[in-house]
Amino acid sequence: MKERLSKLRARVDRVNERLLELLNERAELVEQLRQVKQELGMDLYDPLRESEQIQRLMLKSRGPMTSTMLEHVFREIFRASLDEQFVRSLQGAPLATARGGEVGVDVGGVVIGRGKPVIIAGPCAVEHREYLEQVAEVLRELGLGFNRGGAFKPRTSAYAFQGLGMDGVELIAAVARQYGLKVVSELTDPCTLDRFSQSVDLIQVGARNMYNYDLLKKLGKTDRPVLLKRSFAAKLDELLLAAEYVLAGGNRRVVLCERGIRTFETATRNTLDISAVGLIKETTDLPVVVDVSHACGRRDLLVRLAKASLAAGADGLMVEVHPHPGAALSDGSQQLDLDGFRRFMDALSPYLTGES
Ligand code: PEP
Ligand code: MN
Repeated sequence: MKERLSKLRARVDRVNERLLELLNERAELVEQLRQVKQELGMDLYDPLRESEQIQRLMLKSRGPMTSTMLEHVFREIFRASLDEQFVRSLQGAPLATARGGEVGVDVGGVVIGRGKPVIIAGPCAVEHREYLEQVAEVLRELGLGFNRGGAFKPRTSAYAFQGLGMDGVELIAAVARQYGLKVVSELTDPCTLDRFSQSVDLIQVGARNMYNYDLLKKLGKTDRPVLLKRSFAAKLDELLLAAEYVLAGGNRRVVLCERGIRTFETATRNTLDISAVGLIKETTDLPVVVDVSHACGRRDLLVRLAKASLAAGADGLMVEVHPHPGAALSDGSQQLDLDGFRRFMDALSPYLTGES
């Protein structure tokens, strides 16, 4: 009996070795297939073909493996050759994940993603000219070039301040021009893109609109740089797949923005996903900016989050600044006042060099 056992085991060992050989042969073919598909610009993952292959094998099988066993084994083999899920889903974002090209996005002469990290600062919303001028004055004093301010404010409450609309866009543009600054502002309606482009240097797509594919497609047809914010419930691959919509339309000037995601934690407004910053640097050449203000919703943590973001490789920071946060019409509790912003910049100055 013992002899029979060892004989059977020896046969199983030999089958395993043959399987190993066959699996290696398969892996070699899959690699060749991957290269051909990449050259042809085809998706690597083809779920339809995968199911068809399994069905064909089921029909061919003479047993004793059950259909369930057979499906299980082959699904695992297919999965193993496609790496993990994240890498697999990024097959749908070949442009967003392309490496080795020219790095950086030029916004009116300043390149985001090359050299020194940029600072994008300004109020949550455009309110009064005087406030904008006060912020712009400090930006100029500190040698900073990007002024943010929303005029189309997507608010959770229908009764909250919705922004000044196109008048607000024109107002921030006029002040920025006066101070030699570049404007960053959120676009919500694709129909206003032409007018918007006349005033805004870096067009922001807000977290709520990351999934607005019509808006993204329209932005793919302009040559304006786009700041694409991650939705608060978007997985990282979804952000890159959203960026692909803009890139695929022909607009290669996309800057990503991590602005915190929604988790079970309520001590902060959102949870800053620092890993996402690192992963973006590992998987794409697209620059990434971290919006520290919306990431945590409180001003006492901004310096720490900003340092962490720069350490993870962020190409820039976004921060909300208002001359009188207590009187702000939106996000008063997270905006820095002018002196607070000066201190913020002072604390970060050792980390804002060109080296990474
Ligand atoms: C903003 O930056 O003005 C804003 C509304 O942020 P988010 O879209 O990330 O919520
Ligand atoms: Mn805000």
